[in-house]
Amino acid sequence: MSRIRLLPEILASQVAAGEVVERPASVVKELVENSIDAGARKIEVIIRRGGISLVRVVDDGCGMERDDALLSLERHATSKIRTAADLAAIATLGFRGEALPSIASVSRFRLTTREPDAIAGTEIIVAGGRIETVRDGGEAPGTQVEVRSLFYNLPARRKFLRSENTESRNIEHQLHLQATGHPEIAFAFVRDDRIAFQLPAAANLLERIRDLHGTELVERLLPVEEPSASARMRIRGLIGQAGVSRQSRAQQLVFVNGRAIESPVLTAALREGYHTALMKGQFPVTFLFLDLDPAAVDVNVHPAKREVRFRDPGAVRESVVESIRKTLESGRRDWQQQFQRPVMTPAASQPGTESVIPPAFAPQPSAVPQLGEPVFNSVLPREGESLRDLRDSWPSGEAINVAGASHQFQIIGVLNKLYVLMENQDGLVLVDQHAAHERILFEELRRRMEEQGVPSQRLLLAQTFELAPRDAEWVERNVATLQKMGIGIEPFGQNAFKIDSLPTFLDVSDPVGFMRKVIDGLKSASNGSSPLRLGEDMIAKTVCRHAVKANDPLRYLEVEKLIGDLLECDLPYCCPHGRPTMIQISHTELEKKFGRKV
Ligand code: ADP
Ligand code: MG
Repeated sequence: MSRIRLLPEILASQVAAGEVVERPASVVKELVENSIDAGARKIEVIIRRGGISLVRVVDDGCGMERDDALLSLERHATSKIRTAADLAAIATLGFRGEALPSIASVSRFRLTTREPDAIAGTEIIVAGGRIETVRDGGEAPGTQVEVRSLFYNLPARRKFLRSENTESRNIEHQLHLQATGHPEIAFAFVRDDRIAFQLPAAANLLERIRDLHGTELVERLLPVEEPSASARMRIRGLIGQAGVSRQSRAQQLVFVNGRAIESPVLTAALREGYHTALMKGQFPVTFLFLDLDPAAVDVNVHPAKREVRFRDPGAVRESVVESIRKTLESGRRDWQQQFQRPVMTPAASQPGTESVIPPAFAPQPSAVPQLGEPVFNSVLPREGESLRDLRDSWPSGEAINVAGASHQFQIIGVLNKLYVLMENQDGLVLVDQHAAHERILFEELRRRMEEQGVPSQRLLLAQTFELAPRDAEWVERNVATLQKMGIGIEPFGQNAFKIDSLPTFLDVSDPVGFMRKVIDGLKSASNGSSPLRLGEDMIAKTVCRHAVKANDPLRYLEVEKLIGDLLECDLPYCCPHGRPTMIQISHTELEKKFGRKV
């Protein structure tokens, strides 16, 4: 007796639904993608009870004629690809022709659709995959899909759903992805009869992100710099400047050809690009868009189309790393400009005085001390002076030029022997002197390593040691880099090494123990990253010890030099471990805190 049998259509759809429709957010994803593919300018998403009781997506896209509408509910029916060649270069979000029949097979489903110039539209009602009604429907041009009682006929799947709140949040995240990917489309999201958000069509990504996340985040984002011309892809978008990070990956968004995706290749590239600009265990904030030839990416990897495969992952990775790096370094210019703007002195804020600062940005007169009020200026002790002596001797209201004439700001003092307080045009700047010193040392050593190698000092006695085979293999691969970093290491027989010198800036009593630690640390930190990064890791791990400790009191001139040097760095605003070196507290923030402004 034969035992193999073809599955009935509905059952086959339910099997497919298992992959495509994991939860209400997947329904939202598929329906919104369809609306985008249909050329919608406005998409409205309405959900009830976490999308379990209702998901409705309404668009003003191209709509469907009756035959197409019926066909769209068949499995493997799509208008988006026709041939295998199309599959190799997909330019739409959908292509599998599975979403609508899958969703319709596990819910109570209603589709109404109308082409813009058609006299009448079509309404189709389906329950658990069985078409129950087909009739004329008179809705507005576009398409509306209503999905009720998701998984009502699949109790096993329904049990796996999380709380309504969690499902709602998943949906909201999904909509954020789509809205970020398509700023030109207006979105509205209504949750349990309340408007959760309403996004007008935006002129560009920046505007969309401002509408979604507010100005505060936008001010800390940098426009992404393009990779070098040789890279066969465009990279654009906005990413958080150094020091901006999150505890989860929720704001680490990456789009490949307009599709939000998750990709280990890109995640690793982002990490490497941020490198010392990211605190351990933190995630960057990115709204990154990669546009490449559709034939260079395979999107047909995952049923929910969440993942892609790159034809040349190495090239993609390199370009992303380069872009991120360039972008973060470009952020330095912003900082420097902030410091270059002259400090608003009381005299300069008097009415009638020439001022180059647009009124909107100029601090309110109440924010700066009025003439006659005491002005606390630089009160750091100079050689042989105590803080008290200085308080009266510093000329009031005069900006101090640190490191030449280029950076104008006033050093006010040092708090708790750790934080340098400064005033610039925007308000108060706090600098962590320890973190600042780390950054300066780090960049100096890196420069030396890149240029001529770190100077090293011979050990009194060369030492030999053995390593586990895998560690030995790692060292052998990286010998050249280690040597550039000032570590005189060479192979000395099977899995054994000889070490005869160490960088001069290190003070190590147990070279072998030190080497084992370095290898452990670097191996895990630098999995697969470039040799240069390896050197950076090593430096970052060692400079910390040398940097000014938190409580070292600094003389005024030392502080001045420290700040000057910091501003010359490539990435002045964070230490090599990604912690911030400076914090700006604006006049506005101060005014709010003092209740001068609401
Ligand atoms: P796919 O998107 O992979 O083609 P779907 O099952 O999601 O498969 O949709 C099937 C077809 O139905 C699409 O190819 C498209 O032609 C049509 N369609 C679906 N949703 C819409 C919509 N909102 N507006 C216009 N046409 C749509
Ligand atoms: Mg689709």
